[in-house]
Amino acid sequence: MMCAMAQPVKRAFTYRFYPTPEQAEQLARTFGCVRLVYNKALEERSRAHALHGRRVSYGESSAMLTAWKRTQELAFLGEVSSVPLQQALRHLQSAFTNFFAKRAAYPRFKSRKRSRLSAEYTRSAFTWRDGRLTLAKTAGPLDIVWSRPLPEGAEPSTVTVSRDAAGRWSVSILCEDTIRPLDPADGVVGLDAGITSLLTLSRPIPGLSDAVGKVANPRHERADRARLARAQRALARKERGSSNRAKARVRVARVHARITDRRRDHLHKLTTSIVRENQVIAIEDLTVRNLMRNRRLARAISDASWRQVRTMLEYKARWYGRELVVVDRWFPSSKLCSACGTIAQVMPLGVREWVCAACGAAHDRDVNAAKNVLAAGLAER
Ligand SMILES: [Zn+2]
Repeated sequence: MMCAMAQPVKRAFTYRFYPTPEQAEQLARTFGCVRLVYNKALEERSRAHALHGRRVSYGESSAMLTAWKRTQELAFLGEVSSVPLQQALRHLQSAFTNFFAKRAAYPRFKSRKRSRLSAEYTRSAFTWRDGRLTLAKTAGPLDIVWSRPLPEGAEPSTVTVSRDAAGRWSVSILCEDTIRPLDPADGVVGLDAGITSLLTLSRPIPGLSDAVGKVANPRHERADRARLARAQRALARKERGSSNRAKARVRVARVHARITDRRRDHLHKLTTSIVRENQVIAIEDLTVRNLMRNRRLARAISDASWRQVRTMLEYKARWYGRELVVVDRWFPSSKLCSACGTIAQVMPLGVREWVCAACGAAHDRDVNAAKNVLAAGLAER
């Protein structure tokens, strides 16, 4: 069985912060330099690749960076911390590693408008003292909103500063944390990715699902979505290049960011409860790809944020000593009667409830599917 030892894990904690005008300017300059270095190194690598079929190493890129700083037109690169620039080269290196391993497309240039503004600082480029975080070449500690505490005695190893399209600043602090597994739980549960509901459990869990096992989409989603649609319509009406258009764009980004934040919070609470209550959790290896072909479902699936749920379940199960079984073989989960194993002949998507012709069991379509996922998961262990 699982061993119940505390285990160290790397964990990122993200907080909002409010830079002083001086810090904002320094960080904006750093973001600009990070993008420039990334793009320039990408250009050099692409040229070497196209002209000579040669791969440029991280070490060579790093030497180029040193040379660039010595030139007159790029001397300003020396005004920001060198660590985020080095980290940009490392990110480029892994982008190429992924490309050569056929895991990813060819790396793309970071655009001024579309790419995320961020800078990554490793241990040598920040100080962490008495709960205050100060970045190299940045005046004074950051004014961080500690919405939740860092783990006691945490030692940050990497700090990433970013600004989103809505103009909000955040800092993500990577720490070594100690996770203690929870006491073993009695429950086992199967999950069905939701279409009408966010997801469905094979058995109801009080406080988490309704009486049959359905977990509803968060109530605020509908209102948030209406707000987003309004903001998008307002943006579409604004004249191109006008300052009102720029304002409307920030407004859209803000609504977007809010939806993403709230949904993530919701999914965190949900997955933590599922992991807490159950020793074995069975999920299907989606099928997202298949479902995506159906445009009507695509929206529901992305809304349901199934992939996020799966990722959260994966690491939380590992942290807390639970078993996540991913059923990766295809089986007719919605057509299969979970009571007797008979496969129904037809099952149109619109059918929410059905009665098994063989045994007479009455099924809710999604609960039945979740039960089948659980049975398949338990069989596969
Ligand atoms: Zn049956």
